[in-house]
Amino acid sequence: MMNEKKLNYFRDLLHQRLDELLGEVNKTVSGMTSREDNLPDPSDRATLEVDRNFELRIRDRERKLIGKIKEALERIDHKTYGICEVCGEEIGEARLKARPVTTLCIDCKKKQEMDEKVKGL
Ligand SMILES: [Zn+2]
Repeated sequence: MMNEKKLNYFRDLLHQRLDELLGEVNKTVSGMTSREDNLPDPSDRATLEVDRNFELRIRDRERKLIGKIKEALERIDHKTYGICEVCGEEIGEARLKARPVTTLCIDCKKKQEMDEKVKGL
């Protein structure tokens, strides 16, 4: 079980990531609206559509990541953070620092990736 100090460390880390992500999302949104105003040419509009699809995909990814960060913060509150949801073992600290939203220890993650490969996912 992780002590209070470590939990606080990861709470800060997750909040930092969250702020960064929210900043990115806001930038994307304001960029989208300001560009639309001065593009009267239809061909430019087509390019804009492509750009926008791309941006929406990014935002979709960001949205998912934001959800994961919020879940991780909840796990910190419930003091279940850093415990593998499959085997119940502690997740290595180095792994958590690299990927603070992870819910799987490295062994279970590898197993999951192998399963996905077998299933062709
Ligand atoms: Zn595990």
